[in-house]
Amino acid sequence: MIKTDVLIIGAGPVGLFAAQQLGLIGLKAEVVDNLDKIGGQCIELYPDKPIYDIPALPVCTGKSLTDNLLEQIKPFKTNFHLNERVEAISKEENNWKIKTTGKKTFISPNIIIAAGVGSFEPRKFSVKEPEKFENKGIFYSIKDKTYFKNKRVCIFGGGDSALDWAIELSKFAKVTLVHRRDEFRGAEHSALTARALAKEGKLKIKTPFQIHSIEGDDKITGITIKSEKGEVEKIATDCILGFFGLIMKLGPIAEWGLNLEKKTIPVNTENFQTNKEGIFAIGDICTYPGKLKLILSGFHEGALAARACFKLARPNEKYRFEFTTTSKGMQGRLGIKSK
Ligand SMILES: Cc1cc2nc3c(=O)[nH]c(=O)nc-3n(C[C@H](O)[C@H](O)[C@H](O)COP(=O)(O)OP(=O)(O)OC[C@H]3O[C@@H](n4cnc5c(N)ncnc54)[C@H](O)[C@@H]3O)c2cc1C
Repeated sequence: MIKTDVLIIGAGPVGLFAAQQLGLIGLKAEVVDNLDKIGGQCIELYPDKPIYDIPALPVCTGKSLTDNLLEQIKPFKTNFHLNERVEAISKEENNWKIKTTGKKTFISPNIIIAAGVGSFEPRKFSVKEPEKFENKGIFYSIKDKTYFKNKRVCIFGGGDSALDWAIELSKFAKVTLVHRRDEFRGAEHSALTARALAKEGKLKIKTPFQIHSIEGDDKITGITIKSEKGEVEKIATDCILGFFGLIMKLGPIAEWGLNLEKKTIPVNTENFQTNKEGIFAIGDICTYPGKLKLILSGFHEGALAARACFKLARPNEKYRFEFTTTSKGMQGRLGIKSK
């Protein structure tokens, strides 16, 4: 059971900046994200693309924006709980009880939902019963590549993740790369490397093929793949990896009794509170008249929600507005030594 002043759902740019605003006013935040990395859409969808409309930053990339936001919250030692989806919330006296898929429980008077367009989920294999092998033979991401050492691995997909992992795992596993088209969508250089490795016999490439069935009881023993022309091939394998991209799902948020409007959460723009006391929504997930789905709007929303969280986290204290330039308290929290 983890007690905190605020639980932030979503480690996208808006959730990260909210953690900074909370830290400045002396509140502790814990951040949960379904993804295995921090940065939300900026990291998952456009890490290398330039962004030109972050105030006072003429240009940055999705990755450099995330790195800077992380640098800015360093003094607050924020805890991140990655690969965890917030599943359920319930009210317990003056607190919210929050449960994650990783079986973590948080107790907090405030929840800030900065969940963007919902949780990113991998697109899955469309064959019968893939769930029973999930994480036991079927994987959609790699947490520890050594798990695949000396194993027979079939990798499906034609993008960068499929190519990069096929190249990497071929160093110590028996890899077959399967794609439904002859051409790969990933970087040309990676596609050329994979083909060169195939020529040297260091990995196998099967195109244009798709998965047809999976064999095995407790664990995978093999698969069959099928081409558009109807050719069928059997491959003995220990595991299969699917890299078909991500889909975005509002997910469990839809079941928490919050008012919803076209998959977004209406808020009161005074404090970004939803229809439930102590639950706030900021960034792409919230809606109000005139809402702009821009990072800069999310930053403003986080600043106001953070101040509103103070009231519930410190009911016996009065919130005082201060500037970082002159506040000794804020500078102390930032670790700046006063002269
Ligand atoms: C290609 C592209 C280019 C863009 N360019 C710009 C630009 O130039 N300028 C600009 O201002 N904006 C731009 N945007 C929009 C910008 O990326 C979004 O406005 C911003 O990412 C919203 O931030 P957020 O933190 O609200 O949500 P997100 O970045 O979507 O992050 C939300 C996070 O919440 C997590 N999450 C959701 N549900 C749960 C749950 N139940 N449990 C745990 N975690 C959960 C998700 O996994 C995700 O990591 C662009 C978007 C795209 C796709």
